[in-house]
Amino acid sequence: MTHTRVLIIGSGPAGLTAAIYAARAQLAPIVIEGEPSSTSDQPGGQLMLTTDIENFPGFPDAISGPELMARMRAQAERFGADLRISKVHKLDVTTRPFRAWVSGDDEPSISADAVIVATGARSLMLNVPGEDRLLSHGLSTCATCDGFFFRGQDIAVVGGGDSAMEEALFLTRFASSVTIVHRRDSLRASKIMQDRALAHEKIRFAWNSQVTEVLGESSVSGLRLRDTVTGEDRVLDVTGVFVAIGHVPNTAVVNDVGVELDPNGYVITGPGSRTAVDGLFAAGDVQDHVYRQAITSAGSGCVAAIDAERWLEAQEF
Ligand code: NAP
Repeated sequence: MTHTRVLIIGSGPAGLTAAIYAARAQLAPIVIEGEPSSTSDQPGGQLMLTTDIENFPGFPDAISGPELMARMRAQAERFGADLRISKVHKLDVTTRPFRAWVSGDDEPSISADAVIVATGARSLMLNVPGEDRLLSHGLSTCATCDGFFFRGQDIAVVGGGDSAMEEALFLTRFASSVTIVHRRDSLRASKIMQDRALAHEKIRFAWNSQVTEVLGESSVSGLRLRDTVTGEDRVLDVTGVFVAIGHVPNTAVVNDVGVELDPNGYVITGPGSRTAVDGLFAAGDVQDHVYRQAITSAGSGCVAAIDAERWLEAQEF
């Protein structure tokens, strides 16, 4: 079994920033990066699915998501972080040190004095033809990140909850029109958000409409919609689509270890990055359903590394 002072689970901006800080604090962290198993679950996290990032400070000419993550990896490795493409499938926090089982292990192979969970969250996706191909080519899951690229265009937002209303309202700053595509004839969103969206002159609604295909070869050219009442198909001509049907935090590894989760399933942290389990810290989107930005995630990774370092100093091992 390999022992580490700090085990970091996850390699998005939170995990890698925690790794940079922990490595520079001479804690020689092991980072379990995740494994490429699907588009929403891969080393590097959600930024691996993003093309241009224009709002990460320090890159005035923008940087691609994969390039930003490659730089963060290189920076973490430069200071001695041990990055491993693998997945933690079981964590035991009832013993000191903690023990982790990684992919293919029947027995625990890593022991750690402290653990930082930075496993992120994933957007729920429509799972329709064209969606994977056009992700980042006109199809996005983050209006704050990508809205700017849709100036003067007719676009759609899919969903009927608060996220969809919020994304649609935000996108009216850029787009000519925003059509909210919802599968029912009434919204799930809170009344105030509904009222704002319904009253907005740039927002239209496609009610009772299920997306059956995202159209376009190299960029989005439309949505194929099926009327859930009449069964009729039609095409909505849009050059951009924002999928806003919810997010799920990746908490499988901490589901049964005594960490507290909020009603939406996110890890509850505080003060700082502390969880309900002493010595277990959480950073990034796995504990944040409000901001969800690369920079806030990186910031919380820094917080977690400093919290872990101080906590370790106060322990007897
Ligand atoms: P949500 O409330 O679960 O809404 C998801 C929406 O997507 C629902 O309208 C749902 O339709 C639709 N949907 C789900 N799966 C779909 C599919 N496969 N195809 C088409 N449509 C689908 O999620 P959310 O909007 O992300 O909000 C999550 C939580 O965060 C909520 O508690 C919300 O209030 C909160 N939030 C608050 C704010 C704010 O206050 N400013 C902003 C964002 C989020 P149905 O309605 O038919 O189920």
